Amino acid sequence: MPRLAYVNGRFLPHRGAQVHIEDRGYQFADGVYEVVPVAHGRLVDEELHLDRLERSLRELRIPMPMKREALKLVSHELARRNGLTYGFVYMQVTRGVAPRDHKFPKSVRPALVMTTRQMKPAGEKTLAEGIRVITVPDIRWKRRDIKSTSLLPNCLAKQQAYEAGAAEAWLVDDDGTVTEGSSTNAWIVTRDGRIVTRKATQDILNGITRQVLVKVAEEEGLTLEERPFTVAEAYDAKEAFLTSSTNFVMPITRIDERSVGNGHPGEITGKLRRAYIATFAPDGGVR
Ligand code: PMP
Repeated sequence: MPRLAYVNGRFLPHRGAQVHIEDRGYQFADGVYEVVPVAHGRLVDEELHLDRLERSLRELRIPMPMKREALKLVSHELARRNGLTYGFVYMQVTRGVAPRDHKFPKSVRPALVMTTRQMKPAGEKTLAEGIRVITVPDIRWKRRDIKSTSLLPNCLAKQQAYEAGAAEAWLVDDDGTVTEGSSTNAWIVTRDGRIVTRKATQDILNGITRQVLVKVAEEEGLTLEERPFTVAEAYDAKEAFLTSSTNFVMPITRIDERSVGNGHPGEITGKLRRAYIATFAPDGGVR
C-alpha cells in the first residue's frame, strides 16, 4: 500500500503529490501548520492542536479550509490508511492559489495539505545521555505565537546546531533571555528546584506539549515560574530540558560548552517526562 497524502480534497500517493506553483504558501510562506503526535495509532491532544490551528488562521485572517469535525475525519482517515502507529500527522493550510501579489487575493479558497510520518520513539541512549543545545541570536519576527510556515530563521538555527554537533539551538533575544528552541520550547530547573519556562506571549510559540506540561507540573506539586530566563541562568541551572510534540520531554545535558548540573539528565526532568507520557499512554509502551 503506497503512503498517501491528502491534497485539497484528494488522497494521493505521497510520492509525486503536488501543489500549485502560485500557492501563496510556496511564494510567501502565507500559511500555517500543525504537527499532531500519534501514539498507539491515536492522535495526541488533537483538540488542543486544532484550537491552535484555528487561532493561527484567525490571526492571519485565513478561513478554516473545512469544518473542524471534517478536518478530524480527514486526519484520522489519512493516519488509518497509512497504518500510522507512532509518529505524527502534519497539516498545512495556506491562503490559497492566486496570481502573485502581496495583498490578500479577493476570492480564494484556502489550500489544505496533510501528510503523515512514521517515527521511532526517542532512543534509549539519547534519553540516558541527554542532548546538547547551542545558543544563537533569535532573528525572527515579532509574532512567534502564530504557527506560520515561515521558518527560515528556525531552519538556519537548527542547521547551525547540527553543524556544531548539537541537537537543538536555543534562540536568544536582544536582552539576553532565551525565547525557545528552533522547534521546541525551552525549560530549566534552578538549583533550588523551581521549574522555569517563558510565559506564552507573542515572543514564543505556545507549545501544546508546553501547555500540557504546565498542568502536569502543577499536578505533581512542583513549583513553576513562567518568566524569561537568561543564558547565564541556564548555564547555572541544575537541569534543563526541551519539549515538543515529537520529543515530548527531552533532557538537555550540555548548553554550548558547559555541562548542565552534574552532566546527567535531571530527576525532575525524568519525572516530568514520565508524567507527561502517562497523560496519553497510561498503559506504557512509550518511554
Ligand atoms: N516552538 C517552536 C518554534 C516550534 O516550532 C515548536 C514545534 N512546532 C514548539 C515550540 C513546540 O510546540 P509543540 O509542543 O506544540 O510541538
